[in-house]
Formats: sequence, C-alpha cells, structure tokens
Amino acid sequence: MNAIIFGPPGSGKGTYASILEKKLGPVKISTGDIIREEIEKNTELGKKFKDYYDRGELVPDEMVIEALKKRISESDCVEKGFILDGYPRTIPQAEALSKITTIHVIINLNVPDWIIIERLSSRRTCKKCGTNFNIKYLKPKIEGICDKCDGELYQRDDDKPEVIKERIRVYQKQTRPVLEYYKGKMQFVEFECSDPGIPPEENVEKILVELKKLGFYK
Ligand code: AMP
Repeated sequence: MNAIIFGPPGSGKGTYASILEKKLGPVKISTGDIIREEIEKNTELGKKFKDYYDRGELVPDEMVIEALKKRISESDCVEKGFILDGYPRTIPQAEALSKITTIHVIINLNVPDWIIIERLSSRRTCKKCGTNFNIKYLKPKIEGICDKCDGELYQRDDDKPEVIKERIRVYQKQTRPVLEYYKGKMQFVEFECSDPGIPPEENVEKILVELKKLGFYK
C-alpha cells in the first residue's frame, strides 16, 4: 500500500503514520524529518533549508521533490510500500509524485484550528529519533526524555507561537488545494478528530477499520 497521510500541521500525521507503519508494514516517510536531519547535520542542502524552515514557510519544490524521489526509490519502500507524511504540500509536488509512483489511498485528517494550536504549542520532539510527545496529552514517562531511545526532548523552533500561525496560513493557502487535486482520482479515508485527549492508538484503530473496508488491510 502506498498512502498519503494528509492534514494540517499538528493534526497527528507523524504519530499516526508511525503506528500504521508498525501495524501494517509500509515505511513512514516524513519530508519534515528529512529536512530536519539535513539542517541538524548542517549540510549544504540543510543550510538552504534552514531559513524557510525557521520562518514556517515551505522549502522550494525542486529541493523537496529530489529528496523524496531518492527516498522512495530505496529498496525498503519498493518492497513494503510507504506512507507519506508531510508530502505533497503543493500541486507541483503532487504532479511530480504522480510521475514517479502510484498512490492508492489518502488518509485525510480533519482537525479544528484550536486543537492544532494547542497540540503544536505543547509538542515536544526527540532530538535523536524524532518521536513526538505532548506535555499535555501524550506525556513521556520521564519528563524531558524519550520513552523509545532515551534521547532528549526539545521544542521544535517551528512549534513556537509566531511560527505556528504562519504554518497554518501556509497550509490553508498552498497545501489544502492539494486535496481538491486528488478528489475523484483515488480512494479517501476521512477521519474527524475533535478531541485531543483521545490516545493516538485509539484513533488509528478507527482508521484501520476504514482501510479494511477499502481492502487495504485484512
Ligand atoms: P513537518 O515536520 O511536516 O511539519 O514539516 C516542517 C517544515 O519542513 C515545514 O514547515 C516546511 O518548512 C518543511 N517541509 C516539510 N515537508 C515539506 C514539503 N513537502 N514541501 C516543502 N516544505 C516542507
């Protein structure tokens, strides 16, 4: 199964994609993680990404398309399929994707703005493995430490209030139209999330029921 998990920043895409990867097998690919890794390593590409990232803007299409192409051609993705988290975010990215692979289903997360703001401002991320926690809703067992790898938790620069607003604006303007592009072209799983207190595993079970109905899961 090749899927896209789609939704605004803070809708839970990354967390749900990680659980789906464990349960179903397709590899989670997060373009945000790829970009953060380049910035962290201070590579030539990372230096180009940094300014866009810090402002909450999208990095230029050509750069992210190249990075994505490289990742989905790797053997694990070819063998197991993949779940895209954070890609495509523009129509040109969606068009480029359709030239290199087939997407079978879109899991669309519908989440009200107040939950997004609440979630992003209390999100903490592991420096080592990228796992997300939340100091209100998804607390780590030990404060400031990742449950999975003992890495240090930090607040992403783009999870600060002034940048959050810009990311939501960018989503509405550039990324939401991608949904229209896909309407009628493939299967959709629509998922409503109006309670930030529901554990992600519970929400993923509901998504799995829908994927099962469509025949993507036995
Ligand atoms: P995310 O972790 O998916 O919220 O992405 C964090 C940031 O990385 C975004 O605000 C963008 O600056 C950049 N980014 C991630 N994915 C993309 C993409 N598909 N196109 C352009 N920029 C992206």
